[in-house]
Amino acid sequence: MPELPEVESIRRAIAPALEGRRLERVEIFDPRLVRPFEPIEVVVELEGEVVTAVDRRGKYLIVRFESGRALLIHLRMTGTLRAGALDGDPHRRALLTLDDGTHVAYKDVRRFGTWLLLEPGELDPYLAARLGEEPLLPAFTAKRLGERLAGRRAPLKAALLDQRTLAGLGNIYVDEALWYARLQPLREAGTLEPQELRRLHRAIRKALELGVARQGSTLSDYRLPDGSSGSMQREFRAYGRTGEPCDRCGRELAKTRVGGRSTWYCPRCQAV
Ligand SMILES: [Zn+2]
Repeated sequence: MPELPEVESIRRAIAPALEGRRLERVEIFDPRLVRPFEPIEVVVELEGEVVTAVDRRGKYLIVRFESGRALLIHLRMTGTLRAGALDGDPHRRALLTLDDGTHVAYKDVRRFGTWLLLEPGELDPYLAARLGEEPLLPAFTAKRLGERLAGRRAPLKAALLDQRTLAGLGNIYVDEALWYARLQPLREAGTLEPQELRRLHRAIRKALELGVARQGSTLSDYRLPDGSSGSMQREFRAYGRTGEPCDRCGRELAKTRVGGRSTWYCPRCQAV
């Protein structure tokens, strides 16, 4: 599933193609994408809109229009935006034709992704109700992280996967961040000491920034808009590395489950 670094990489790559362009023609081939609305209802509203910016909040892509409306795209498992028409691709779910004659296609193998058109003024309350801190912004500090985790009995990993704690983390980057922070994934979230919070705050930033710098992790379906792959998977310290030696202490990495999610950690340096 694309997490913050993957969504951010897609955003950076596709924004120049969309910004300043008018949506000349919009085709939605899969009704699931815009449920509960009918594709034709969304198409007639989108056609003619002019894109002012492509932003990101957590794992959402936000296409902002001159009219003040916004198209909120969640890629879920396998969604992505691709430059070009992708003619003949069986997983193409929507196609934008821009006023310069170029195309941007939305591709989604598993079909869980969603498009939601929001009217002016609807975007901020919609996101505020669903998302916590944006972890790469200056406003996210160790103190704010502590406030978000205070009093929570859930395992640390589960609390970090909750998008209302922090926006944008998923299974991969939580495991990586906890490895950098040397914290046990099952640790009760509300029990971190101030120095542990500072370590975790730094670790979250480090894992996400590395992911953005490597343009995300390509494990199976994730591709950048030009069809190329990210390379973060080569940098994994914990995620997916069952039985491999810890890069810090040499101990074999272990796999467990937390809140139903596969979880990798070092039993020695993430003992508490
Ligand atoms: Zn270790």
